[in-house]
Amino acid sequence: MKIHEYQAKDILAKYGVAIPRGEVANTLDEALEVAKQLFAEGAKGVVVKAQIHAGGRGKGGGVKVAKTVEEAEQYAKQILGMQLVTHQTGPQGQKVQRLLIEETAAIDRELYLGIVLDRAAAKLVFMASQAGGMEIEEVAARDPKAIHKVYIEPSVGFQAYQARELAFALGLKPTQIGDAVKFMMGLYKAYVDTDASLLEINPFITTKDDELFALDCKINFDDNAMFRHKDLRELRDVAEEDPLEVEASKYALNYIKLDGNIACMVNGAGLAMATMDIIQYAGGMPANFLDVGGGANQQQIEHAFEILLSDKNVQAVFINIFGGILRVDTLAQGVVQAAKNLKVKVPVVLRLEGTNVEEGRRILQESGLKFQVGATMKEAAELVVAAAKGAA
Ligand code: GDP
Ligand code: MN
Repeated sequence: MKIHEYQAKDILAKYGVAIPRGEVANTLDEALEVAKQLFAEGAKGVVVKAQIHAGGRGKGGGVKVAKTVEEAEQYAKQILGMQLVTHQTGPQGQKVQRLLIEETAAIDRELYLGIVLDRAAAKLVFMASQAGGMEIEEVAARDPKAIHKVYIEPSVGFQAYQARELAFALGLKPTQIGDAVKFMMGLYKAYVDTDASLLEINPFITTKDDELFALDCKINFDDNAMFRHKDLRELRDVAEEDPLEVEASKYALNYIKLDGNIACMVNGAGLAMATMDIIQYAGGMPANFLDVGGGANQQQIEHAFEILLSDKNVQAVFINIFGGILRVDTLAQGVVQAAKNLKVKVPVVLRLEGTNVEEGRRILQESGLKFQVGATMKEAAELVVAAAKGAA
């Protein structure tokens, strides 16, 4: 689960991590109010920041520094409601629904800090780099040595000596080391307490007065842990998510939209991966990943079908089911019902195996609808790729 920068900074503040003064604004009036307040309190400038879940906002024109209230108003007007395009949003961009207005900082250096789980090492890794501010992925690819890493022993946690090691690697002044250690300790505690899967401060800045601030913050949470964080779950902003994925999550369907034109409905994540592979092997492109789960019922199948077909790119549907707990006849009933309700126009190819497969095939046959059934996964994949090409 992703959250906005302003929400992530609220969390950091609770852990004693220094963030610039500021406030979120949902309307132009609110933005103006916050800007006025900050200038009245002595700010020399304010920064107007688009709040969307994607990064790269600065380059996309979603972060602007204003020297006066009037300028702040102008930028707020410009950014609020804009379709902000960054390298992470895709070409269609993301609509800006709210702004964060903050006091500007007198930046001396822009650095990078990040915590992420290294699955291969089975440890959290704390990263620091002097190449902050820019796209850290590029730095990692071009010059991996520019990113310093310490691995955290799960049983003992992040240690002060490790924070000092990173602080030295960042080339911080002796007078900044103590604060930097406190800062990093706060980040680590926030990461662990919230069951995060990623925490990044980019840029982590030093000021001309030797102060340290988190100027930007990105936190992702581990979805599998969100059941024990009611407060964090409330931070979810579904307006930032793909509408079809939001719809799928209501019915406990694991759906991820992709760019191809062959929709697939599969039970089991492993089979779903194999299905996507075999579609590509047969020369097609999957329109989605969808795992309806082991114990899907008829309603879930109908909803899944509906979601698949709401994707305008879809030219054919591939249903690949190995009946176990989800019996093939249940699946067939769901598919027939959905196909009738939705007046499906695109070709549907099925490959069915497992519990009650004969009953399932009979239901399809007697439905009067035109389904194609492949004898094997390979044959079905070839059928659906041909069908999609024919329809396109
Ligand atoms: P991102 O592009 O989505 O990662 O958004 P950031 O919050 O990182 O902002 C992008 C860039 O804007 C930063 O790297 C800074 O260079 C600049 N920026 C952000 N806040 C301030 C500020 O308070 N003062 C100044 N001068 N620049 C800022
Ligand atoms: Mn950033």
